[in-house]
Amino acid sequence: MKKGFLALSLLRVGLKRLLYPPICLFCLEEILDERFHTLCEGCFGELEFLEGFEKVTNHAPFCRHIAAPFEHGGVAEVVVEGFKAAGRSYLADAMAGFMLLKWLEGDFPEPDVIVPVPASPVTSFQRGYQPSVLLAETIGELLNKPVWNGLSKEVAFLKQAHLSKEEREKGKIAPLYLVKDPKVLEDKTVLLVDDVMTTGATLNQAARLLCGGYPKAVDALVFTTHA
Ligand SMILES: [Zn+2]
Repeated sequence: MKKGFLALSLLRVGLKRLLYPPICLFCLEEILDERFHTLCEGCFGELEFLEGFEKVTNHAPFCRHIAAPFEHGGVAEVVVEGFKAAGRSYLADAMAGFMLLKWLEGDFPEPDVIVPVPASPVTSFQRGYQPSVLLAETIGELLNKPVWNGLSKEVAFLKQAHLSKEEREKGKIAPLYLVKDPKVLEDKTVLLVDDVMTTGATLNQAARLLCGGYPKAVDALVFTTHA
């Protein structure tokens, strides 16, 4: 992937959402300074870009590389909350753009297929969209790579009925993911996409399942990381 080409693609996606007068995607205030486009100067200045990749590696051993443009907090956290909880699905474009810029910074191998880490069917139904699927689709569009929706999240209490009520209330229920026909991933470089990485356990679990299809490697890209 030529970086110049990607920058052009990012610009195109940005233009798709261009409003007049220009509006900050994050705070929705009008952007008065001509040098700024998707974000106002104030919001842009408050975003804390993560330097390097050390902070997000080693939390999910089944993932070869993990990249995140932002630590979870500040403007980046507000963006994620707006994206996940307040129905602001239009944020996917800007978020995917930042994620890809971070990915390019790492100079990692180009993925063959993009795989979103899904939310539970219940929360997806309530929202009307799946945040990670939207991000994956936008990234797939920018890289011109297919998105494979082969992971699904199980309704955990059905599968973990052996846990006591107390254990469940203590949060002992780990998300359960299922994978359908991972053989399609054989010898492919997979890019897992999610909005937030908390401990890395979810990414690791998802990557472990995908490894059942013998991909060449599983990498991961998230918008923010706690780890
Ligand atoms: Zn703003």
